[in-house]
Amino acid sequence: MSHVENMDKTAVSSRKLSLDKYKSTVGEEHVEHIRSLAEKLSGCSVVHVNSTSFGGGVAEILHRLVPLMQDVGLDTQWKVIKGTTEFFNATKTIHNALQGMKKPLTEELKNTYLQQNAANASQMSLDCDHVVIHDQQPLALINFYRKRYGKWIWRCHIDLSQPNQEFLRFSAPFIRLYDASIFTMKQYVSSSLKLKEVAIIPPSIDPLSDKNKSLPDTVILSVLSKYDVNPEKPILTQVARFDPWKDPLGVIDVYKLVKKKIPDVQLLFIGSMASDDPEGWVYFEKTARYSGADYDIHLLTDLVGVHDIEVNAFQRASNVVLQKSLREGFGLTISEALWKGVPVVGANVGGIPLQVIHNATGFLVNNVEEAAEKTIYLLKHSEIAKIMGEKGREHVRKNFLITRHLEDYLKLFIQLS
Ligand code: UDP
Repeated sequence: MSHVENMDKTAVSSRKLSLDKYKSTVGEEHVEHIRSLAEKLSGCSVVHVNSTSFGGGVAEILHRLVPLMQDVGLDTQWKVIKGTTEFFNATKTIHNALQGMKKPLTEELKNTYLQQNAANASQMSLDCDHVVIHDQQPLALINFYRKRYGKWIWRCHIDLSQPNQEFLRFSAPFIRLYDASIFTMKQYVSSSLKLKEVAIIPPSIDPLSDKNKSLPDTVILSVLSKYDVNPEKPILTQVARFDPWKDPLGVIDVYKLVKKKIPDVQLLFIGSMASDDPEGWVYFEKTARYSGADYDIHLLTDLVGVHDIEVNAFQRASNVVLQKSLREGFGLTISEALWKGVPVVGANVGGIPLQVIHNATGFLVNNVEEAAEKTIYLLKHSEIAKIMGEKGREHVRKNFLITRHLEDYLKLFIQLS
């Protein structure tokens, strides 16, 4: 077992969490089972590497998974690579292209990407038993790291169902260097990748985090009042970064159709600005202009104080949550809504159908018109919406809580050891 360096400037510090606190939500047996798996890895070191400690699903997961891995006895760290704006523009292009966007793969982009990965590899200490690299930004670290010590795992969070083939060919040689890769769905594993070891592990939410814990009505109402949202009128919400794949303009189109039938409906578009996502401001402005002067549309970001508790409160106050994505690796926001008993109208893409079971936990839709129709239906049938929300919560309890996620990681580590 290696000794993990603690003074690394790229390290993200994490709070303490106790797995035992999850017993009342997932059962004592499940917690004991996780502890017995962890015993087999006692003393092992793990490092997770990604590109931001704030904004987006990966950071959301790591803030909870890393301390839980520590709690079960793994010497676990989280490190974030550094990058220039040029680098994050390049990695966002790669992200967009891997999700299917037509983009040219220029020599300049490749050089920026590779040079920054090489620079990070030379500055980071990753001598752990299990090195988990998240997504495409740090994918090429493996190519430059001086001497690999433990098992290296690439964790892909994005929707790889229809990739731009040129970018997939560029990424494939790096992916193949890993001892194992994790994908959210088997549909994302292209046979052309010819991978050694593949694990299918969907992501998860933490029921005890500020984002998902239960909140008193007084807190919910005070958040609504602070942001001038009327609790007496119907609320339709999408929580998503301002990103082309989240289809922000499509969300406005859905709302406008719903508004024709339900004039007092309000739309909350909650989108944080991630430090590794330079497109955020561009799409924020596009969305703001497209919304026009309608005061029932609220564009809310972390920059006006909308953090975990506020997102939690808005999700709980919603009658319907929308996820109108064009591509979606998984979409934690869907499980977050279902866990709060709110039905979801979601696009029939990527990881959304894992969570939205059509006619049971919400509706899967294929275009703006269908999304509006199903939203109107749920707003007009609150009893059915409630039943769907309850089914959603149970679906998430069984499949998408962080304890299941932790268990899957432990099993993979044991398998690779
Ligand atoms: N999120 C947030 N505030 C926002 C927008 C998003 O806290 O304004 C969180 C959201 O609650 C979820 C995560 O960021 O936990 C987004 O993860 P998801 O898998 O839905 O999408 P990604 O951003 O990874 O594509």
